[in-house]
Amino acid sequence: MSYKILDLKFDQNGGRFTINPVVIYDDQEMVLVDCGHPDALPKLEVLMSDEGLDMADLTKIIITHHDHDHMGALASIVRKYPNVRVMASAIDAPHIEGAAKSLRLVQAESIHDNLPEEQKESARRFATYLESIEPTKVDVLLRDGDWFDFCGGFEIIATPGHMPGHISIYLPESKTLISGDALVVQKGDLENANPQYSLDIEGTRTSALKLSKLEIERVICYHGGLYTGDVHSALIKMVSAESL
Ligand SMILES: [Zn+2]
Repeated sequence: MSYKILDLKFDQNGGRFTINPVVIYDDQEMVLVDCGHPDALPKLEVLMSDEGLDMADLTKIIITHHDHDHMGALASIVRKYPNVRVMASAIDAPHIEGAAKSLRLVQAESIHDNLPEEQKESARRFATYLESIEPTKVDVLLRDGDWFDFCGGFEIIATPGHMPGHISIYLPESKTLISGDALVVQKGDLENANPQYSLDIEGTRTSALKLSKLEIERVICYHGGLYTGDVHSALIKMVSAESL
């Protein structure tokens, strides 16, 4: 098994940011974990090609949760590469498929009335943007503890908190966790999911505790990239500090 961390750049509010989809692959399978904003497809093709990978060899996409920056490009990828199977948690699938409303949109709408007047227009633009994310059919429904043999073998770990259906991917052979947004790297530190964007803060603590039971030497966060410090201590700190 090998993996590549992609540095996917995007511009927002005059700033330039990086998010980190991950490709895991072996001789048979090539799996992309999360896929960026709606315009990300051509960028992903270039980034993968830079890593010596061909997006045409992609066999599966795992979506860690249905936020716009994780599933935005999904519909365009599946349209261009129709053999790619989409894998996502059974809890998130209705949101990805458009059968249930985006929970981020529900959150945005719930806080809208209490925003200061000058923030309301950008909030409305954000809501319109969320509504424009194209739904996509999920082919494989994932549950906590699901095990897959390919790409060196990996386990699906339910890590609710940031969103209820959030999953992370654990690769025991390399003691690597692909955390999605369950964890973030900020200023070099491994931190719990950003509370501002977490729909269930207590859930993020429970998920950190759950992850602390795994043997993890490196974490790949969607926001912040690779962390190779003391993962266990960082997770325990998240659990204890925040429950004071
Ligand atoms: Zn998210």
